[in-house]
Amino acid sequence: MTAKMRVAVFKDKGQVEIQEVEKPVPSKGEILVKIEACALCTWEQRIFKGISHVPFPFIGGHEVSGTIAEIGEEVNNERWKVGQKVAVRLLENCYECYYCRKGEHNLCEMIGKQKNQRDKFAGPRGLSEYLSISSDKLFKLDNSLDFEVGALTEPLACVIHSVERAEIEIGDDVLIIGAGVMGLFHTMMCKKRAARVIVSEVDDKRRDLAKVLGADEVFNPVEENSIEKIKQLTEGRGADIVINTTAISKVAQEAIQLVGKMGKVVFYSSQHPDNPINISPDRIHNDEITITGTVSPSISDFQKSAKLLSTKIISPEPLISKVIPFENVQKAFEEAINPENFRVIVKIN
Ligand SMILES: [Zn+2]
Ligand SMILES: [Zn+2]
Repeated sequence: MTAKMRVAVFKDKGQVEIQEVEKPVPSKGEILVKIEACALCTWEQRIFKGISHVPFPFIGGHEVSGTIAEIGEEVNNERWKVGQKVAVRLLENCYECYYCRKGEHNLCEMIGKQKNQRDKFAGPRGLSEYLSISSDKLFKLDNSLDFEVGALTEPLACVIHSVERAEIEIGDDVLIIGAGVMGLFHTMMCKKRAARVIVSEVDDKRRDLAKVLGADEVFNPVEENSIEKIKQLTEGRGADIVINTTAISKVAQEAIQLVGKMGKVVFYSSQHPDNPINISPDRIHNDEITITGTVSPSISDFQKSAKLLSTKIISPEPLISKVIPFENVQKAFEEAINPENFRVIVKIN
């Protein structure tokens, strides 16, 4: 008889339930990871709310940490040992396309195109008790690290990618729009780059936490005019870097107005809905402005993230609002979409 394990299956929007499936057995080159914690990302929250669409039945979860339970054949068993804590990078890579070969693994042409042959479920499958995966997808975490913190390796890696794209220089005025989990991770990372961090956020509680995590200036864009506020803080220049972590088109447009000469605007968040915005090409020309985006983490960003968490250079505990047992996964999603909460983590095992 084959062993069974539990997975959390999205049956439809707003409906997640625990089901039993066959426990995977590691094939050649694979490692069996016992997943301990899975954080519920904004993407999965949008699937739950029906804003982002996926084929059902679907097993979500891509922010995971766990321990190595079993090592398959032909895995480097000097490097990988049973009991090692790990984070898992669940983004697919072909290692053959133009972008993979340039080292830009987050832009792989095969992302979202590789078909799961194993069973009827689509999705990254982090909300499972076990995952059998190629050893190159694993990143060591220090064995003293809490699994809940380890589960944040992926979101921190996304922010590391963004901060690298922004090419922040020491002392730059960096405006971060929005102080949800992503805005707050940006706050911590930009402080590590010795930037002067200004955070724009409507919610009092989030603004307070931004301050605690090191923001130099915070303001409420409903109470204060953002353009005037940024001018006042930067001797009329505008910010050197503006990072938009919100999904609001109006804010995306304003982000460009808030940047100064030689400035850079980073569109971090995906947009819902993706409304076109107005840009003055002449302003981009005259002020030598760069507008860029950032999506997902590359392999090196993941490596850096696992290191920053393992060495406690970044301590994201304040971003964890709730830890909820696996059997209450439906409740975990309901908590995750509550704007009062930062990250909600499902304790799997
Ligand atoms: Zn994520
Ligand atoms: Zn590729």
